[in-house]
Amino acid sequence: MEIKFFDTKEKKKTVFKPIDLKEIKLYVCGPTVYDRAHIGNARPAVVFDVLFRFLRYNFGKNCVTYVRNFTDIDDKINKQSMDTGRSIKSITDETIKWYKQDMLQLNVLEPSKSPRATEFVGAMIKQISILINNKNAYQDDTGHVLFSTRSFPDYGLLSHRKLDEMNFGSRVAVSDNKRDPLDFILWKPSDEKTPGWDSPWGRGRPGWHIECSAMIHELLGESFDIHGGGIDLVFPHHENEIAQSCCSYPKGGFANIWMHNGFLQIEGEKMAKSSGNFFTVQDLIQMGVNGEVIRMVLMLTHYRQPLDWTRQRVSDASKVLNKWRLLCAGKRASKSPASSVLAALADDLNTPKAFAELHELASAGNYSELLSSAQFLGLMEQDLNEALPTIQLSDFETKKIKSLLRKRFEAKKVKDFVTADQIRKKIERVGIILQDKSDKTEWSLSPNFNRKKMKDL
Ligand SMILES: [Zn+2]
Repeated sequence: MEIKFFDTKEKKKTVFKPIDLKEIKLYVCGPTVYDRAHIGNARPAVVFDVLFRFLRYNFGKNCVTYVRNFTDIDDKINKQSMDTGRSIKSITDETIKWYKQDMLQLNVLEPSKSPRATEFVGAMIKQISILINNKNAYQDDTGHVLFSTRSFPDYGLLSHRKLDEMNFGSRVAVSDNKRDPLDFILWKPSDEKTPGWDSPWGRGRPGWHIECSAMIHELLGESFDIHGGGIDLVFPHHENEIAQSCCSYPKGGFANIWMHNGFLQIEGEKMAKSSGNFFTVQDLIQMGVNGEVIRMVLMLTHYRQPLDWTRQRVSDASKVLNKWRLLCAGKRASKSPASSVLAALADDLNTPKAFAELHELASAGNYSELLSSAQFLGLMEQDLNEALPTIQLSDFETKKIKSLLRKRFEAKKVKDFVTADQIRKKIERVGIILQDKSDKTEWSLSPNFNRKKMKDL
């Protein structure tokens, strides 16, 4: 089967030719660990999990090395430690534990290796030293080590940007210490309160970009097959990774193919804590959205397209999954997934096409292939005899909502719209959607229904 993936650098689908059939190497930039994973963080985890499963199926279970790092050196982590008085180790340990639990709920397989940046500071220092020796980097008079971007002629090839255009854009933010505004930080000095490591440039800590380059070199070598991540990482993060790695290890080719997943938005809007449309994987699970449903919604859109997370999609996916579960209950999965599903994935991981094929299998009554194909995609692994649990309100909670709606109805009757509106807002804050019909008000739970807030009603 010919496998094609869209390469961001080439801007087209290219045939996937592994460097070494005995070890296919995949690297994906992992989370910075200071907070719960939000649904946007879950998207690359699921997308590249599908890729990992697909590569393992095609080339052999033990022939794929998938590295996904944890960024546990970051100024956001340092700030949280300062603000809360908790140690960095306890923050990052806890967040990594949460992340692993959340990914497990989404049926995301453990990568082959999950390195933490703190374990590779030695390798980062080594790589920065090489870059200084090669005249690709320099230390300024404030103790920072900077990469000299213009020393790498291919800079900008991944993101299809021209150096001089970037220069124009960043001229406003020229730092006094940089020789060129395009230069980026490899190493920065740490004060006593900030974590630091001894280095030839004094006590300090690495910049974010060099973390990935060093971990990749240590775990995958100078050339590897696929580098993945979110589209927001193309520039500057991945562009900088290429520059650092190709200048320190010029014999290697770094990544052969670059794959990037698109953005995620909520109900057509940018996800933002300030506008209230922000949820973590844990929020969704608490609201009663099953991990498999979350996974399915994330797979229903092709990975390169922007994904719009909507209540409607959550409800549709959950209905489809429950239908398939009932159809497959008591059936035995076929030995391998349907060839039509594999063919869809071989065409740049076309998961929407794969789901169309699953619907075909369901209507054709081919339940054993439906089951094995769904399981191949990380679905329907739980007991098929039980419907997926959905949230159930207690009688007490239901009565509470009904009584508030009655009060609102009375208020409207006497044209007290202020009170009616206050009640509506109060109910909506809990995550309940109200729909006024001519004679009654219908209500339903939205995906941001928050049971804890029920006590405020
Ligand atoms: Zn990275």
